Amino acid sequence: AKAHARGSIGLFAPEMDMQIRDRRALHQDLSNAIRNGELSLYYQPQAASKRQIGEGDIVGFEALARWRHPTRGFVPPGEFIPLAEESGLIVEIGEWILREACREAASWPKPLQIAVNLSPAQFLNTDLVATVHQVLVETGLQPGRLELEITEGVLIDDFDRGLALLRRLKTLGVRVSMDDFGSGYSSLTYLQAFPFDKIKIDRAFIMHLGRNVQSAAIVRAVIGLGHGLGVSLVAEGVETQEQLDFLVDEGCDAVQGYLIGMPAPIDQYPVLVGLAPSP
Ligand code: C2E
Ligand code: CA
Ligand code: CA
Ligand code: CA
Repeated sequence: AKAHARGSIGLFAPEMDMQIRDRRALHQDLSNAIRNGELSLYYQPQAASKRQIGEGDIVGFEALARWRHPTRGFVPPGEFIPLAEESGLIVEIGEWILREACREAASWPKPLQIAVNLSPAQFLNTDLVATVHQVLVETGLQPGRLELEITEGVLIDDFDRGLALLRRLKTLGVRVSMDDFGSGYSSLTYLQAFPFDKIKIDRAFIMHLGRNVQSAAIVRAVIGLGHGLGVSLVAEGVETQEQLDFLVDEGCDAVQGYLIGMPAPIDQYPVLVGLAPSP
């Protein structure tokens, strides 16, 4: 494949060639990122829904990976996670993220939830159940406090394997959320077949609340659907009071978004996690 790529180099536009070289360099750098201490986690709060949200309403955090590249600065997770997936680095990086998030959460004074994103390759291609079990034992985190977020796309490729994995994960006592609900297709089939504890309504629907009657109808219906199935609902990307009020009125269980709190290093939430507030 390499010889072919070299032979056909004239076919690429110069920018295209640059992109490929760029990716190769970035991949090389990513393979050293853990060792160099360039990866970290930001934490974004999730709160029980009500009109006025205070610190006491926060029920947990979602861990969001950050890579600070030595010369490029922050590379968005939307870029480096897919890169890690293609190269297989996701196994090591994903395990680092899981361990770091659980270790952090185990140190908090209140039993808040900690949500960790699982990428498709991580979900399907590694001995995930053994890893999760090992990390729980190692960190002493109560399994019920760990929530694993997966997107429905993960389940499309191999339904049976996905279902078996989800069931085994649940026997560990952890919770499983369907992330980005509504952004893909076949959602209803997956909801029926897979034992999710939580549905996260995709930001795309929340974003248009108040501007678009279709979004309001969809969000309302998804909340009803989730509750009918005994699953709790979280709205993602809540940015305005108007959106929050709608979600409260519709009985959405929890909310997450810039209105409630930004993703940030954990010391930005000192009281909740038992750190002395910075002066
Ligand atoms: P996601 O899991 O859907 O995470 C939510 C994304 O929405 C985060 O972007 C978050 O910063 C952003 N967000 C939260 N509230 C708001 C809001 O009110 N408005 C807007 N406009 N955005 C909001 P981020 O951190 O850039 O992550 C992007 C995606 O990268 C994540 O989407 C997830 O798919 C992936 N990702 C991030 N961290 C990890 C990780 O540790 N492991 C894996 N496998 N994927 C990760
Ligand atoms: Ca997520
Ligand atoms: Ca999401
Ligand atoms: Ca997303």
